[in-house]
Amino acid sequence: MKVIRLSKSSIGKDEKSAVLNILDKEFLGMGQEVELFEKEIADYIGVTPDSVVCVNTGTSALHLAISALDIGPGDEVIVPSITYVASLQAISATGAIAIISDVVESNFLLDVVDAEKRITSNTKAIMAVHYASNSENLTAVYSLANIYGLRVIEDAAQAFGCDYNDKKVGATGDITCFSFDGIKNITSGEGGAICSFDKEFIRRVKDARLLGVENDTENRFMGERSWEFDVKYQGYRYHMSNIMAAIGRVQLKRVDDFSVKRRCLMSRYLDRFSDFDGVQDLGVNLKLIVPHIFVIKIKGGNRDNLMNYLREKGIQCGIHYQPNHYLSYYRTGYHLPIAEKAGREMLTLPLHVDLTVADVDYICDCVLTYLSE
Ligand SMILES: *Cc1c(COP(=O)(O)O)cnc(C)c1O
Repeated sequence: MKVIRLSKSSIGKDEKSAVLNILDKEFLGMGQEVELFEKEIADYIGVTPDSVVCVNTGTSALHLAISALDIGPGDEVIVPSITYVASLQAISATGAIAIISDVVESNFLLDVVDAEKRITSNTKAIMAVHYASNSENLTAVYSLANIYGLRVIEDAAQAFGCDYNDKKVGATGDITCFSFDGIKNITSGEGGAICSFDKEFIRRVKDARLLGVENDTENRFMGERSWEFDVKYQGYRYHMSNIMAAIGRVQLKRVDDFSVKRRCLMSRYLDRFSDFDGVQDLGVNLKLIVPHIFVIKIKGGNRDNLMNYLREKGIQCGIHYQPNHYLSYYRTGYHLPIAEKAGREMLTLPLHVDLTVADVDYICDCVLTYLSE
């Protein structure tokens, strides 16, 4: 039986020849290809060329961002319970405490009312997660942050290419982190990027991705290395390689096509489920987002059975995500009722660029058949 994958990369001959080209040059590490990728991302987002720093994963982007803000032991960072565990690992890696907050029932984004109750004198930042590519709560997040003098780190791992206030996500925020892992809106194999207007912060992040070696980025972009240097901060080996950047540069050229395709598939799903009560969507504005995942809510406690049924029909599905405060390492002493309900009802159906409308129709037929019985 044909299996419909939940998500996957879409790699063409251009990505393959771009990688071969780098292999032929025998300069695989961080060099000019990464510099070009950073400039092209900046241009796409609509920020100055020196605002973007590429790293090896989205998780590293988040970790570097938090540590470059000097957030660490004794500090607290607010984060929604419904996110990939990478968001929390990035916080705890710095020694700071992830203060897990509840989400909004309609869209699973951070509930700023609940978040505000958890702010203390140790709170340094809010991590706003663009869950399922949605950044609808950003205005509220930034006004809360302004009231309490907090930094905002946007986990935009799922929101590359999305719009917010007539600009691209990343164009107006404090600090925005993207992921280019294999299944995100664009991929560089693995990879991530940090985007910010804060020049001092960007300087720090550029050094910190290369073990804290001062100005090593500039040298490597010229094909040189730093032989005499100072290190002032803890750094990490988090830089992006030329091989990754070569894939990413091709994918960036395809992002508009990807976005049309993803929107079209999601819109088909929404049409098919529109007058069926047993399935609720997250009410996202498809004009603004490039949907990374398609999440629905299954009412009536049927989610797990439906998942098994779909698996038997050759359809992979997922759960994005079980509430993070259930994890042993991040367990809270308090309940987050909306996140817990979300964890029971959410179901992710396949969405990727190589899915067809016929695939979506087949998936919808299966879901509707099962739930109508
Ligand atoms: C994918 C993802 C990350 C981590 O990105 P990686 O590149 O896989 O390290 C972080 N947060 C969210 C919400 C994600 O979806």
